[in-house]
Amino acid sequence: MAGTFVPCYRKLGQEKKGNCMEEQAKLTELKGVGKKTAELFARVGVETLEDLVHYYPRSYEVYEAPVPVAGLEEGKVQAVTGVVAGNVKMGGSPRLSVTTAWLKDETGTLKTVWFRMPFLRNTLRPGSRITVRGRVAERKGELLMEHPEIFQPSEQYAEKMDTMQPLYPLTAGLGNKTVMKVMRQALESRQLWQEILPESIRRKYGLAEINFALRQIHFPKNREDFFRARERLVFEEFLTFVLALRKTKEHTVREKNGYPMENKKELDAFTESLPYELTGAQKRVWEEIRGDLTGSLVMSRLVQGDVGSGKTILAVLALFLTGLNGYQGALMAPTEVLARQHYASVCRFLEESSLPLRAELLTGSMKAKEKRETYERIASGEVQIIVGTHALIQEKAVYHSLALVVTDEQHRFGVKQREALAGKGSMPHVLVMSATPIPRTLAIILYGDLDISVVDELPASRLPIKNCVVDTGYRKTACRFMKQQVKAGRQCYVICPMVEESEALEAENVTDYAWMLAEEMGPDICVRELHGRMKQEQKDEIMEAFGRGEIQILVSTTVIEVGIDVPNATVMMVENAERFGLAQLHQLRGRVGRGQYQSYCIFMSGSRSKETKKRLEILNSSNDGFYIASEDLKLRGPGDLFGIRQSGLMNFKIGDVFQDAGILQKAAAAAGEILEDSPELAGKNYQKLETHVERYLSRSVDFLTL
Ligand code: ADP
Ligand code: MG
Repeated sequence: MAGTFVPCYRKLGQEKKGNCMEEQAKLTELKGVGKKTAELFARVGVETLEDLVHYYPRSYEVYEAPVPVAGLEEGKVQAVTGVVAGNVKMGGSPRLSVTTAWLKDETGTLKTVWFRMPFLRNTLRPGSRITVRGRVAERKGELLMEHPEIFQPSEQYAEKMDTMQPLYPLTAGLGNKTVMKVMRQALESRQLWQEILPESIRRKYGLAEINFALRQIHFPKNREDFFRARERLVFEEFLTFVLALRKTKEHTVREKNGYPMENKKELDAFTESLPYELTGAQKRVWEEIRGDLTGSLVMSRLVQGDVGSGKTILAVLALFLTGLNGYQGALMAPTEVLARQHYASVCRFLEESSLPLRAELLTGSMKAKEKRETYERIASGEVQIIVGTHALIQEKAVYHSLALVVTDEQHRFGVKQREALAGKGSMPHVLVMSATPIPRTLAIILYGDLDISVVDELPASRLPIKNCVVDTGYRKTACRFMKQQVKAGRQCYVICPMVEESEALEAENVTDYAWMLAEEMGPDICVRELHGRMKQEQKDEIMEAFGRGEIQILVSTTVIEVGIDVPNATVMMVENAERFGLAQLHQLRGRVGRGQYQSYCIFMSGSRSKETKKRLEILNSSNDGFYIASEDLKLRGPGDLFGIRQSGLMNFKIGDVFQDAGILQKAAAAAGEILEDSPELAGKNYQKLETHVERYLSRSVDFLTL
């Protein structure tokens, strides 16, 4: 849903208003919020009061009870209370002063260090009792804290203890304090928010009331209230989603196959001529797809398969069968780079075979004239296979006889797009490819309107990726290893969590790392960086140069495209691997091991904590995405919310498909009960819910985006 925000200012009926807050009121109606602040909020998609209260914290700062020095664990943010022992030491250089103090309790002594804060020497009095709070690091075998927050006297800490301070997603100019202040205003105004959940559902599933939930999600009193609040909001979000999905499903089931096809001998010959034999799973899924295309009903199918399982060839077969039957087929990729990559492989397949088909590329960045000519060839039916980005479904593209739409990796097709494409003709067949490992029970809920095929087998010819989990002491060796690989003709990816250096976080960043590596690698090796702050064309250019082998080492954030296929790349090194979710690390690893060469994945951990080791060990021991996702969840447990990225799957605002699988199942059950009671969500009971679902549908043009 990100980026597809379409505000909807439906006025609520006067009679419904009562003493309730006008939800669609603009932010500027809040005291102290001027035009400027409102504009900043608009940048993050917040325009109305309703948007505001649903702008949830991305995390919370929790001030937990101090631990004894002996209980400190590397990598964790912890607090310690103790007495400043001996004198505070000054060191470093005039440019970078270093202040060191030692904090003592009954169990040991903790070293604490601050940079560029010489005045601390006067504030930290020997013998005084203070509390410090910060991330525990390890240097040369010794635990210490760098730049901890100081509470002096230590009673100051007691006041903050166990509170949870919200940390909001921010944008330039919009600080956390401002968001907190405006949020307080919105929540503390005397008026109340309307409950959209039917009372019976709320009671049956033991869900918190909406006003409680909103207050506690932003300013939790304690953990227990926070979890209750979150559960309620996640439930509401999933329920809305499932209801919206069922609503659209009504329109998609049981459509007749408007483009009946028949088997083609040429296609069997083409399959025979591939440089490899299809795996058993590929063959089975291809039969399912072919069955749909030649069957009596229109196809709506999801093909799920782990990275590298070979989904692209299935899309190609479906497109070719469509073309050979005299129709057109389109393949839509989430980015230009992926679109061009697919286009290139389609062209290669066509060159090497003698199939009488023509392919065409259509992307947003093409020049107007080029586009116009392409449109013409599409409209005339001269080309049968069209590969591209979202441009494929823009109004100007008129198809001659579009019978199949395949979407790769990211986009899920809403009914609206389908209708737009069908124009006056029939609904096209839809095939959705995804590498996201979702258990079948959840997939049935999330993709209720799709049939599901699973490619559960990797090509046998593939050499398994060799994994290792190491700490930063191994970095030099890893660099030497990459150098060897490059000398042997291969290419490497290095992933860093950040774009630039940051004061707040101790983690590797792309900018500095690329410099460092370039220095290390010498004059013959081309190192380049790639991150989300670069312009799209720039990113495409770099990705393509890497694809052509002109760049040997790519230092990147996780913007590196899911789905990118550079079989010559054999090393994936991830810095600060502890900062990523396992599912994400698995996706990253899927960028290597795609060709004939032995590939390697190096997870560089900046933390030595036991938990981190345990998590990364899962990746080390398995290459199976489904297994990894479920183990990750077991380890994290549903209660652990802080610090670790959620999977971000399907862009839910607060719910997480993996973490909140239980709530998703309950919400789906509730949706079933509601629809059974009232298929149209009619009646007083469901009035508000119905309005809510409608608004959700009208806003989320792409609500089915993975
Ligand atoms: P994904 O499922 O991640 O999209 P791709 O379709 O990109 O995977 O396939 C990954 C690589 O495996 C490609 O280079 C492709 O040519 C190759 N491949 C696909 N099917 C087979 C097979 N049956 N045997 C060997 N290699 C295959
Ligand atoms: Mg793919």
